[in-house]
Amino acid sequence: MDEAEKALARERIAELEVEIRSKLSEKDLAADGDERSDGHHHPAEAATDAEARERQLRDVLRLRNQLERLERAHEAIDAGTYGVCQDCGAAIPEGRLRARPDAARCVSCQSAADRHR
Ligand SMILES: [Zn+2]
Repeated sequence: MDEAEKALARERIAELEVEIRSKLSEKDLAADGDERSDGHHHPAEAATDAEARERQLRDVLRLRNQLERLERAHEAIDAGTYGVCQDCGAAIPEGRLRARPDAARCVSCQSAADRHR
């Protein structure tokens, strides 16, 4: 990976970070709104609210995990290991990195890791 490719990767990662942070702040605002409206709902709606909150929480966790992976991707660029599969050491294809700048594994290692989760 040369300097131009690294710069491009950093740019992609930074763009994604901005996007995720804005999604996260939307979620945080929505969560506050939910709390304020508590107590005004019919009990039958409470279950739906709980489900919605749970879904919201999962979304927030997923987004935070993605931010963490992006943070590690920055570190990997610094360390010169970005774009290399962390499991098998193979080069991760450019197309995959473009679609998933936070990818730390090649497609086959990622699907193996997903299966074992
Ligand atoms: Zn691999």
